[in-house]
Amino acid sequence: MSAEKERIFRALKDVVQIPGNGICADCGLPEPEWASTTLGIFICLNCSGIHRNIPDVSIIKSLLLDPWNDSQIQHMASLGNEAAKRKYEAFVPAYYYVPTYRDCQVLLEQWIRSKYERKDFIVENKPLAYATGYREGFLWKRGRDNGQFLNRKFILTEGDGILKYFTKTDAKVPKAMIKVDNVNATFQPIKIGNPNGLQLMYLKDNSTRNIFLYHDEGKVSHRVIPQRLGLFGPSGHHPPASCVPRNKVRAGPTSPCSSGSLVLAASWKIRNDAYARGEVFIGSSDNGYAVKEGLPPGTPAGGSWQHGITIVTPDRDFPFICETERDRQEWMSVFNGVMVQQMSPQEYTVEAYFKHRR
Ligand SMILES: [Zn+2]
Repeated sequence: MSAEKERIFRALKDVVQIPGNGICADCGLPEPEWASTTLGIFICLNCSGIHRNIPDVSIIKSLLLDPWNDSQIQHMASLGNEAAKRKYEAFVPAYYYVPTYRDCQVLLEQWIRSKYERKDFIVENKPLAYATGYREGFLWKRGRDNGQFLNRKFILTEGDGILKYFTKTDAKVPKAMIKVDNVNATFQPIKIGNPNGLQLMYLKDNSTRNIFLYHDEGKVSHRVIPQRLGLFGPSGHHPPASCVPRNKVRAGPTSPCSSGSLVLAASWKIRNDAYARGEVFIGSSDNGYAVKEGLPPGTPAGGSWQHGITIVTPDRDFPFICETERDRQEWMSVFNGVMVQQMSPQEYTVEAYFKHRR
């Protein structure tokens, strides 16, 4: 390497060493090797690919392969990941799921486009692209009793953040009103048997409810069901099956599942049941809730029982089994993430309801 090349390389390395620049500005992956020279951020290979498709937003350069000069390096030094975060992520709404490098491409692209292309988060309460007033459309909803899918009208109103559906097209009174902030949505193509299968999980009368939906064309359901659920890209991609925001919802065969800040662990009698067989209110660790690895004493050990979790509540302990150790670790972190949060007044009400019901 020539002395000049060496000098440039060191100068660039110094900028990468500035706090914040050592992880990808968009997904948090350590040691990014790419940069958006327009935005002045350091990003990983994967995110650089997304930026490359938005040339109005980003010109992409490799830290290692492309030539750099002093003024370009100076430009990067004057901006950087921390500054970009302060600007472009200033007002990310609490309900917005911020993806990481563990998440799928669709979520990352949605996040990057939202941040830099639409500048959704630079001012407070910007009406987001998906939240333009009123949306209406038809989706196939699984019937509660016979499991057949029925065509149902869905309406989303942005102002009140409510998703309604109707059993009859001309009905005035909705069959259900679902508060979007309380909804967890996961792609469930296999469970539902359709590539656009979607499971919505929400609280109704302090109990967890599931509805199962699909649309023949993913695009349409993307328009009807809001991005606010943390799942959909703006352009109607078919998301892969694994595309589930990890810390927002977990629903597995052992099936504790979380529902926003208010988390219920439920175990489902049948995989596609609309109602939970049992539910556990997950409160704050300050109020006597805890999660422990392993099962309570006296339960069988070994075999399929080895990845156990015990949820401790003030009243009793609830054992759960996970399929794999990885599942167990993810569940533990979901539960811990909920338990460190203070309980809201509304959550105290739900807790009381649970105690009373027993
Ligand atoms: Zn990245």
